[in-house]
Amino acid sequence: MGFNSGLGMERSYYAATANPFAPAPKLEGELKADVVVIGGGYTGLSTALQLSRDFSVVLLEAGRIGWGASGRNGGQLIPGWRKGATDLVKLYGEGRAREVFDLSLQARERVMQWIADENISCDLAVSGHVSTAAKPGDLAWMREEVETLERVMRYPHARVIGADEMRAKVASPLFHGALFDRLGGHFHPLNYALGLAEAARRKGVTLFENSRAVSIDTLSGIVVKTDSGTVSARYGVLACDALLEGLEPRIAGRIMPVANYLVATAPLENPSALIADNLAVSDTRFVVNYFRLSADGRLIFGGGERYTPNEPADIAAFVRPFVLKVFPQLTDIPIEYAWGGLVSITMTRMPHVGRIGDLFFAHGYSGQGTIIPAIAARGMAEAMAGEPKLFDVLSGLAPPEFPGGAALRAPLHVLGMLWYALRDRL
Ligand SMILES: Cc1cc2nc3c(=O)[nH]c(=O)nc-3n(C[C@H](O)[C@H](O)[C@H](O)COP(=O)(O)OP(=O)(O)OC[C@H]3O[C@@H](n4cnc5c(N)ncnc54)[C@H](O)[C@@H]3O)c2cc1C
Repeated sequence: MGFNSGLGMERSYYAATANPFAPAPKLEGELKADVVVIGGGYTGLSTALQLSRDFSVVLLEAGRIGWGASGRNGGQLIPGWRKGATDLVKLYGEGRAREVFDLSLQARERVMQWIADENISCDLAVSGHVSTAAKPGDLAWMREEVETLERVMRYPHARVIGADEMRAKVASPLFHGALFDRLGGHFHPLNYALGLAEAARRKGVTLFENSRAVSIDTLSGIVVKTDSGTVSARYGVLACDALLEGLEPRIAGRIMPVANYLVATAPLENPSALIADNLAVSDTRFVVNYFRLSADGRLIFGGGERYTPNEPADIAAFVRPFVLKVFPQLTDIPIEYAWGGLVSITMTRMPHVGRIGDLFFAHGYSGQGTIIPAIAARGMAEAMAGEPKLFDVLSGLAPPEFPGGAALRAPLHVLGMLWYALRDRL
């Protein structure tokens, strides 16, 4: 089994419907480049693509390109950061919050532009996203959020919808309304990643698969070793997210990997009767449930709370009760695909972007990482080209370490997660 092939990825809906992608070779021998990128998900691929204009780039992927979180996720395109607009204002004050929010919109623009310019065929649907209200009281903060978006962020694209309109959009008895953002949507996450990789390859980036970085030397330039080769470069980019493991202990304590699981049902007879307007939907609980339709009319549903690190023996059976809670009418629908992935979260839910000398990194998107890697990529690439302004803003968002660092974060965090999940229920 390859490095990033666990948790049922080979049995996922995305792997089954992936666009053709010619495998990249394994690194053998010694190579030199301006930049070596470690990790072939959205962060690594976007950075490589962004860098390709000015630099020679080698990208090392331990397993298969796009088979980390980037090829397994819910495909939900949610404008903004994992922290909402009102929270950003509380954290940073109005002026800085607007600047930070605006970066997320620039990231979205970038993603849309890459998809258009590079002809990435990834079932893109800019059909809107709704955050559902699990309890009537949620509507109050949603109204405040819309107000902050309009007044502070000058973002007029969101509105609160009431229970009746919500039921007309999503055929579930559970929701009391929602926060609707018309610039949200969804895509096929693996095909977007593979499209970025093809675009990078066309622009001269050298890709390697099955080439796991086992050591990084930062003493003089960056020297990365795999078990069969070495890349020496001026700069390095660490883009391993939740799969970083022990590769760079100096940053590992800022992120916490949490497993999350998805299923795809058989194609529905009348998909738009379940979810109208092809919306992307996620709830507002701490442990999020999220769902949408696929291009061929299946329900793709992610979620479920699980606080033990081991994988459920039967992922479909684990996720099914969460599906039925939202959509009791689906009892007879077969689940045809089931898989999981590792999400990396941070203490503040803001990503961790930074550098250790000439080694740059970006990770910890906390469940909202389909769009934001595009701006992290630009920040890192501009800093390498001598323009650090954006990078400085992004690295200024850095979350603190988990208490106890990498060694203690798992047990403490499990307690924290249990607390939040309990709070959701009360
Ligand atoms: C189940 C799930 C559902 C999600 N749903 C959503 C969603 O609906 N919307 C949203 O916005 N976000 C979602 N996310 C988050 C989003 O998928 C991630 O934030 C994003 O994909 C992170 O991209 P990345 O490139 O940083 O990491 P990854 O895509 O994980 O890529 C890291 C890569 O680094 C490689 N690697 C690791 N170690 C090494 C090494 N030593 N040498 C070489 N390569 C290495 C890995 O094999 C991997 O391919 C979800 C995540 C998961 C897991």
